[in-house]
Amino acid sequence: MSNHLPPRRTVPVRAWLLSVTGLAVVASLVMWHAQLVDLLDFDTSADKRPVVASGPGGSPPPVVEVSKSTPPPVKPSKTPARKPTKTPTRFSSGYSEEDIDGLSLKLRTRLQKAITAAKADGVRISITSARRSAAKQTRLLREAIAKYGSYKAATRWVLPPEQSAHVQGKAVDIGPQAAMVWLNKNGWRYGVCRRYDNEPWHFEALTTPGNRCPAREPHAVAKAD
Ligand SMILES: [Zn+2]
Repeated sequence: MSNHLPPRRTVPVRAWLLSVTGLAVVASLVMWHAQLVDLLDFDTSADKRPVVASGPGGSPPPVVEVSKSTPPPVKPSKTPARKPTKTPTRFSSGYSEEDIDGLSLKLRTRLQKAITAAKADGVRISITSARRSAAKQTRLLREAIAKYGSYKAATRWVLPPEQSAHVQGKAVDIGPQAAMVWLNKNGWRYGVCRRYDNEPWHFEALTTPGNRCPAREPHAVAKAD
């Protein structure tokens, strides 16, 4: 019997040692996980703070105050981020290419009447391009030459800035399709006419209100220098 006891003692000791080291390893792993969870909890709790604050209500007043003070600094940081994106598209005079304000008084006045009449017919006319800067027109022409392969082909779509009615504020491109159709049909009443066969979106003040529009041109043609 006595011979059997030592091995029986050593086995529990080894088992105890193994279990202790095992527990230590497990404990360290648990601690490590706990730290990770804490880190994750910090991140998620920060995101969920407004939701949590709205749930409990008045139980934690200081938390509510913190959550209320947090949104304001976020909002101003978003607004200045949006403003710079709009600024480059604006001219120094303050209007953008999509603004009707950049157009000549004649075209603007006529177009405003047409927009009002179209609205009464359930058609919304939106401005896609009104007055352009010479720099923008030059860039569009450069892109068109790359696309169509030659200056002559490109100027069927994009005239050089010194010849472009857009740069002078005397042309407007509109959309969507329903608006093009409406203005092509009714624009003469307001003196606004589609000019080119290849550009259903492009309109100019080409007639006096109430009179027929002149015959359309197949496409734009750049004048020789
Ligand atoms: Zn146009």
